Amino acid sequence: MSGSKKTAAVIGAGFGGLALAIRLQSAGIQTVVYEKRDKPGGRAYVYTDDGFTFDAGPTVITDPDCLEQLWALSGRRLSDDVTLLPVSPFYQLCWEDGYRFDYADDQVEIDRQIAAKSPEDVEGYRRFLAYSEDLYREGYEKLGTVPFLNFWSMAKVAPQLIRLESHRSVYSKVSQFIKDDQLRQAFSFHSLLVGGNPFRTSSIYGLIHALERKGGVWFAKGGTGALIAGMVKHFERLGGTIQLNAEIDCIEARDDKVSGVTLKDGTSRSFDQIASNADVVHTYKHMLRDTDRGRSNGRALEKKSYSMSLFVVYFGLKTEHPGLKHHMVLFGNRYKELISEIFATDGLAEDFSLYLHSPSVTDDSLAPPGSSAYYVLSPVPHLGTADIDWSVEGPKYRDRILQYLNDRYIPNLLKDLVTVRHFTPFDFRDELNAHHGSAFSVEPILTQSAWFRPHNRDDSFSNLYVVGAGTHPGAGIPGVVGSAKATAGLMIEDALK
Ligand SMILES: Cc1cc2nc3c(=O)[nH]c(=O)nc-3n(C[C@H](O)[C@H](O)[C@H](O)COP(=O)(O)OP(=O)(O)OC[C@H]3O[C@@H](n4cnc5c(N)ncnc54)[C@H](O)[C@@H]3O)c2cc1C
Repeated sequence: MSGSKKTAAVIGAGFGGLALAIRLQSAGIQTVVYEKRDKPGGRAYVYTDDGFTFDAGPTVITDPDCLEQLWALSGRRLSDDVTLLPVSPFYQLCWEDGYRFDYADDQVEIDRQIAAKSPEDVEGYRRFLAYSEDLYREGYEKLGTVPFLNFWSMAKVAPQLIRLESHRSVYSKVSQFIKDDQLRQAFSFHSLLVGGNPFRTSSIYGLIHALERKGGVWFAKGGTGALIAGMVKHFERLGGTIQLNAEIDCIEARDDKVSGVTLKDGTSRSFDQIASNADVVHTYKHMLRDTDRGRSNGRALEKKSYSMSLFVVYFGLKTEHPGLKHHMVLFGNRYKELISEIFATDGLAEDFSLYLHSPSVTDDSLAPPGSSAYYVLSPVPHLGTADIDWSVEGPKYRDRILQYLNDRYIPNLLKDLVTVRHFTPFDFRDELNAHHGSAFSVEPILTQSAWFRPHNRDDSFSNLYVVGAGTHPGAGIPGVVGSAKATAGLMIEDALK
């Protein structure tokens, strides 16, 4: 890089913000990360209560190679700072009628289980896997880290999108290959992991199945928080700076450029480039409120549809339950109807489908000896869909979920409970500045994907960028780390001009 060193601010220390900061710092751009909260990680925050360690958010680590690349940029290895442990089975899927499916990385085992449930679906699953691999090559390998800045870039990929029938939903494509109702659920629920309704989300998100089969499912030793700590350590070793408890109030702008940031405490600093990892509505509507662009784009972004929110209960038990699997999806009796209600109904359903995280099965360092740590999450409507007073409903909903687990999956849970806390859509809104308290930002549907998603570089301010779940390609660790690659490519190229 010629002349004096270029400088960049990254607003937010989520996976996307940290991955971007590592890429910029590795390229010689002097980078400062500003994080509102007292710890880095964003949705991957960590709670430590009564000797238990709880990862707040992501626990399923896929495509470890996208993380490895962040270390390889400076000739290091991810394993210098973080140990990834394989998780097997990837998930155990459970239904209320007692049926269980161990989704393993083992073709023979998958075939055996499908044959036992629905023999005609063995061949169908093979064809689904081949389709998913095709989606993975086109949607993830080729396009996952490429910015879509103009309509032409979208038009160029249209033939592939048409060939792959991306206008159809994940569920409808899965149903084309697989006939059994529970197996259809087993191979279509994945889009919920990135905030997508399987009945609305583009079939492109069927690529997650191939992503998991190819790269495996991993857990960071010490929890996802240890992976975040490793990213921070790596960034600081490269010479970058991270400021915690540093909420950005305003991005300063003049003409077609942004010039610096002002913190809540009133201090300001100039930068050559600014990237926001914060929620996209918050970025434009709040941080750029003094500009025409901020106000108009803020209004446009508010009109988009947003992913559902989540209700998460973190709890520790004074006993161990080695019979549980690390990742369990607990389906209720209703699938399509429940999901439709979560995305469109003003209210809270009586039933639920849950994801249960039992990390102590893989890593005994997260709870005191003889004890075990958990979280359970329930997808719930975001605040724009359902006007629920979570300060009142939260404790009641928490108790209903714990009772359900106690009755069906973890005997004596209520008796053995040592510590418990919960996180509601209000917390997504207030702690993370998330629009409507959405857990995954802009909903991943075809009309809000690629070029139709907020762009990695702003259309008006030539040195303002976005990174994370709200931009291309979208939510999930591989998604936001991919967005960091797309955004960093633009920033590094622009810095050289
Ligand atoms: C409960 C849960 C479970 C999940 N499980 C998985 C999983 O198992 N696997 C997976 O791959 N994905 C999972 N996801 C999705 C994944 O966690 C997210 O998509 C991803 O972590 C989002 O990263 P991000 O870079 O967009 O930033 P975020 O994590 O959203 O971070 C943004 C940061 O910006 C900060 N910020 C906001 N406003 C300001 C401001 N004004 N000034 C300074 N800082 C600000 C926030 O405090 C926050 O730290 C899960 C999500 C949730 C909520």
